Amino acid sequence: MAAAMDAPTPPPQPLVCPTCGAAGQSSAACRRCHSDLRLLQHLVTRRAAELPTLARALAAGRWAEALLSAQYIHTLRQDEESFRLLAVCQLLNEQFAAACDTHRQYRAIIQQRH
Ligand SMILES: [Zn+2]
Repeated sequence: MAAAMDAPTPPPQPLVCPTCGAAGQSSAACRRCHSDLRLLQHLVTRRAAELPTLARALAAGRWAEALLSAQYIHTLRQDEESFRLLAVCQLLNEQFAAACDTHRQYRAIIQQRH
């Protein structure tokens, strides 16, 4: 278990260009619209690097630290995973109203996609 949490961070996944929506971006600039993707890649890399910190805090029962980590991850990049992690950590910290708000935001985003 500890070995899995200490595993090296996997390379960043290919990105979707936020400007034109072209998928599978792995270079510094979008191949379609030439937008600079370096900042987005940096955020994704930092987010991936924070996930083991969150896992360690959860495994050790350090709920306040886990919540801070989940908030940081969610701030770096919001997606379905970050909403779930944030809501779970809010529940573990007995922040029930905040967890409900996070769940509502998550549901709204899911409904927009379908
Ligand atoms: Zn683009």
